[in-house]
Amino acid sequence: MTGSGGLPLLFLDVDGPLLPFGPATGPSGSHPTYSTGPVPPGAGAHPLLARIDPGLGPRLAALDCELVWATTWTHGANEVVAPRLGLPALPVVLWPGMSSADARDARAGLHWKTRTLVEWAGGRAFAWVDDEIGEADRRWVAAHHGERALLHRVDPGRGLTDDDFRLLDTWLRMM
Ligand SMILES: [Mg+2]
Repeated sequence: MTGSGGLPLLFLDVDGPLLPFGPATGPSGSHPTYSTGPVPPGAGAHPLLARIDPGLGPRLAALDCELVWATTWTHGANEVVAPRLGLPALPVVLWPGMSSADARDARAGLHWKTRTLVEWAGGRAFAWVDDEIGEADRRWVAAHHGERALLHRVDPGRGLTDDDFRLLDTWLRMM
């Protein structure tokens, strides 16, 4: 367990980890789709939502962490993604507008989410699950976050897999 703030946070991206896109890299060679019964309000506008595997919800809920949306969907994740997964409304990271620091970060290869997530974590240990994480993000977090952090890149052609869950579960249990 962490010394401050209880459970580690898990910052969760939607496009890629939960909603696969681009060339499918999974065993079936295409993106499977799932029916979840009644379509939540607003979901009809997002036909790709059918790619979200509702079975991921209970697996995420079972992880020993506090789930937080870290996605451009912001509050939309609670409106249309959480119901498909059977998850309650989760805290949402909101992104500040583009600043000169962001342009500098982009040139340095830093993801535009990285600074905000470290700030949001406020010194709590966190895992970050995203399809766009790179080495520059890992280095920056190691240098600027005083707690443990796991930056885990997921293959967007496949979404979260058993291997990803095993790795996350193992890391969270070591906390
Ligand atoms: Mg993504």
